[in-house]
Amino acid sequence: MNEERLWAPWRLGYVTGEESPVDPPPEPRDWIVGADRNCFLCRAAANYEPTNLADKQLLVADRGELSVVVLNIFPFNNGHLLISPRRHVGDLSALSRDENIECVDQLARLTGIYRECLNAEGFNIGLNLGRVAGAGVPGHLHWHLVPRWAGDNNFMPVLAGTRVIPQSLDALWELLVGALKQ
Ligand SMILES: [Zn+2]
Repeated sequence: MNEERLWAPWRLGYVTGEESPVDPPPEPRDWIVGADRNCFLCRAAANYEPTNLADKQLLVADRGELSVVVLNIFPFNNGHLLISPRRHVGDLSALSRDENIECVDQLARLTGIYRECLNAEGFNIGLNLGRVAGAGVPGHLHWHLVPRWAGDNNFMPVLAGTRVIPQSLDALWELLVGALKQ
């Protein structure tokens, strides 16, 4: 498959902060210290009242003490997630050990959930560090988690800007929130 296309998040207006999944986006009760208020990951990572309504609007599937899991609203494949520290940091070396561990633990946990709930057969997991490497939000690092199925590249259009995703984001959000609670 075309890996270059798979890891091309700079093409996404949402990721570059030009678009929000909801308009207007919910206002946080309070922001994480050091947050960039124009950063969609900081907005997802902020604290809300009530939390579950904002989570649904912002497509936040899970929030830990130090990390947040967000559905990519322009997925490369069904189930495309972004896992990031709640703190606005752009480099791996700036992460605390606990932040790093929590993010990688979430990645591992989510692969298990996808194998069980969506019968995922493989994964692409990637991190673009810095704008030259294709990071759409260079200031706030995030792992991409893309589940894969045999033959899923067969319906990926080579030239078209959109692709067919078999599951709606709302349905995926419901599934993940349910599975992550267990
Ligand atoms: Zn941020």
